[in-house]
Formats: sequence, C-alpha cells, structure tokens
Amino acid sequence: MKRVIYVGHDQLNSSYGALKGADPKSDLIVLVESARMVTGSNWNKVRLYFLISCAHHFAKELTDSGFKVIYQKAATTVDGLKQVRAEHGDLPIIAATPNSFRLSKALADFGVTFIENDLFLTPKELFTAWAESQKSYLMENFYRGQRIRLNILVENGKPVGGAWNFDKENRSPLPKGYTFPPYLEHKSDEIDQMVAKQLGIEPNTTWTTNRVGAKKVLKNFLDNHFENFGPYEDAMTSDNWALHHSLLSPYLNNGLLHPSEVVDAAVKRFKKGDIPIQSAEGFIRQIIGWREYVNGMYWYLGQDYKELNHLKANRKLLPLFNDPDKTKMNCIKTTVSDINQRGWVAHIPRLMLLSNLALITGTNPQQFLQWMREVFIDAADWVMVPNVIGMGVHADNGVMMTKPYAAGGAYISKMSNYCKGCVYDPKLRTGDAACPFTTLYWDFLDRNIEEFKGNHRMAQQLFGINRLKDMDQVRQRAKAVLTGLDNGLI
Ligand code: SF4
Repeated sequence: MKRVIYVGHDQLNSSYGALKGADPKSDLIVLVESARMVTGSNWNKVRLYFLISCAHHFAKELTDSGFKVIYQKAATTVDGLKQVRAEHGDLPIIAATPNSFRLSKALADFGVTFIENDLFLTPKELFTAWAESQKSYLMENFYRGQRIRLNILVENGKPVGGAWNFDKENRSPLPKGYTFPPYLEHKSDEIDQMVAKQLGIEPNTTWTTNRVGAKKVLKNFLDNHFENFGPYEDAMTSDNWALHHSLLSPYLNNGLLHPSEVVDAAVKRFKKGDIPIQSAEGFIRQIIGWREYVNGMYWYLGQDYKELNHLKANRKLLPLFNDPDKTKMNCIKTTVSDINQRGWVAHIPRLMLLSNLALITGTNPQQFLQWMREVFIDAADWVMVPNVIGMGVHADNGVMMTKPYAAGGAYISKMSNYCKGCVYDPKLRTGDAACPFTTLYWDFLDRNIEEFKGNHRMAQQLFGINRLKDMDQVRQRAKAVLTGLDNGLI
C-alpha cells in the first residue's frame, strides 16, 4: 500500500472527496470511530445508530469492490490514524478537507494532506469572494447567483416561472383533513442490528443506512411529495411527523447523496411538467441556496462566531429540551418527543418552536447550540453554528439575519394544529392559561426594546408593544412562566 485515505463519517461517497480516483492496489481506506464521537456528548442514540451503521455499510461496499478497508475504533480520530500507521507503516495520509474547524486543525497538525472537499457545490474561495462583495450577507442574493452560476431553473438569464422566489405562495397551513402519502420504512440488516445492539437500542426503521436506500428515499420524495412540498413547507401538524419534506438532509450531510444528483433529479422531474414551480423552486432553494449558504457562512465567519452571545442570554437550558414530560406546551412536547424518537423534525419547528423558545426565554446560545448538535440526526457543526447562533437566537447581533425570528402563539396557532390540544390559549398573554410563547414574545421585545429600537425591520413589532395597556401584567406573568419553565412545570 502506498497511502492511506481517511474517510470521515460525513464523507461517505466514493465518487467525490478523497475517494475520487482511489486505487484498490495502492490505497488503504481508513474510517475511524472515535470515542469522542460516540460517548463525548449526550448524543441522541438514533443519530449515533445512523452515522455508525452508514459508515459500516459504506466500508463493506468498498471492501466488496476490492479495497482494503480498516474500520478503526480509537479515543480520537488522530489516535485511530496513529494505530493504523503503527500497524501498516508510516504511509502518507490524504483526506478531503474535513467539515469542521476542530477536525481540520487536528488532522492538519497530524500531517494529513487535504484535497478539495467537493461534497458541496460551492468552493470556499468562491463563497468568500461573494461574501466579501456584500454589504449584508443576504441568502437571497447568494441564491440568485447560484441559480445563474449553476444554470438551474434559468432561461436566457431569467428565472423560470418569472420570479426567483415563490416564498409568498409557500406559507399555507394544512387544509382540514389533509392526508399524506406514506413514507418509506427501512428493513434492518445484520449490520444495523449489530450497531443497534452495541448502542442498546432497536434498529431504527425511519432511516436507511446505505446509498441504495437513500436513492429510494429521493425517488419516493420526487414521486409522492415533491408536487405539494412548496405550499405546505412551513406548516406543522401533530398528525404527521414528516409532512411533504424530503427527509434527505441526513444522507446529504453524511455523503450518501451528493447535492448535484438531488438537484439534477429534481430539475428532471420538474421538466416533466406536473410539478408546480413554487414546489420546484422552494426545494431547489434549500439545496443550492440555504445549504450552501450555511456551509459557506460557517467557514467565512470563523471559529469564534459560535461563542457569540450578543443579547447576553444566560438562562440554563430548559429541562423540557431533554424531557418532553417537563412541559405542558403541546407544540414543544410533541416536537421534543418526535426528536427523541427519530432524531429529526422539519426546519420550521426547529426555528419557530425550539429556537424561538430559546430566544424569547433568553436561553444561553452555547448551551442551546450544544443541545441542537446532540439531538438531530443531520446536525453537524457547519449546519448548527450559523443556524442557531445567527438565525435561531440572534446571538450575532444580526450578522446573518437582520431581525430575530421571535414569534408568539398566534403564528404557531395559524401554522399548526398544536394549540387545539393544548392547556394554554395562544390568544392570551396574561393569566394562568396564557400561552407561554405569547407572554414571552412581548416580554422579550420589552426586555430588548433599547436593543431593537434602531432596527427598522422591528419597527412594527415595537409599535405593537407600545399599544399594549397590560404590559405590567405581561411582565408579571412572564416571570412566573420563566420560573415555571426552569422547573419543568409550564
Ligand atoms: Fe404551543 Fe402556545 Fe399553542 Fe400551546 S397554546 S400549543 S404552548 S403555541
């Protein structure tokens, strides 16, 4: 063997990254399962099951195609590589650039040579050039550039359908009695069962753990959910955990699917003519816009960005995040239970329920970020740092988003059916039956009134607070709600 190719658990793709052009005769493939990755945090076991089982399946596929593959367990990734070198000689090691600052530094310090990480569509230099040319880092501007650069849904330099963005048409709540086609269940195999046993859980059938299964999930989305993805993209319901979402982020984020094949398949499907433009555009924006933008911003904003806490939010993580029985709020109880079961909820509950709650309760951003990293199957540093610090809890003083995503119960009531089964009333802001979101929304604005005074995008909300006659009672109720949340009693 002439060299080692290190493959991260989030780079499981033989056509891209370090494995592109690999040769079974001269390349020794190494995957490392570090103790840090398995026991270093309070990881959701569904997440661990998925990541570890996918990596074992990938290692087997490579072995079956003739490669010598080592799946090394060790305290850290570098320790694992040291053990491989001790056994196989001082071979040079190459890897695709890792997806986090921490691992990039650890591997670079160890002498690993990086090759381009093309598991994303946007080279870092290109994103940096874009960011440096902007006054504010509006995702929409980046996205339009991506549409043109990648020539997706563009004809003669103009957007297909006559607009770049159909978001306004994509904010519908679900009609009464609306039903969804079924999602795929995935049978477990011997590898899944072995991994599940090691973790002390049952194999999870929500997620597939190999590329063949991931391609089936993509096909199922395009055949059965793509058409109505757009209009109900922001809806929430206690009746269905997945709605029309693609469920592709875990496979995109661990390499089993490449963003270009997902986008190509979506465009091809759109061209058949029966997918509305607002669904096609809305979905494609997630892949070539948001996903690439968040990754680009992670690297561009640098390592210190994750420590920001501009609003000086220092409340300890609420107990309800780790135990749904610690709250009576129906929306949160349902969402946290779903996360415990599958390691996943859609973007809107992540933003408008979980992050919104962290924001308006003044929860410490770093503790909330750590929790988001631990519980979601598709979480990675690059995903969560910008999404939580910038978008979710406004800890960056508006570097990414010009205003905080704070909302009261009225928004949740409009976009979901959660409030119908709740002990609280989204319309009330004072009294024992007041919705905690509604009370804390006004209290949050009140607490930060000086902070947001100069922000013209907050003018309407601040105008609203000035018209409230019962702010004293709201403040009083907010105190009781915050104490109740701290004690797991609200
Ligand atoms: Fe959530 Fe408030 Fe609605 Fe209850 S009333 S489900 S707490 S938004």
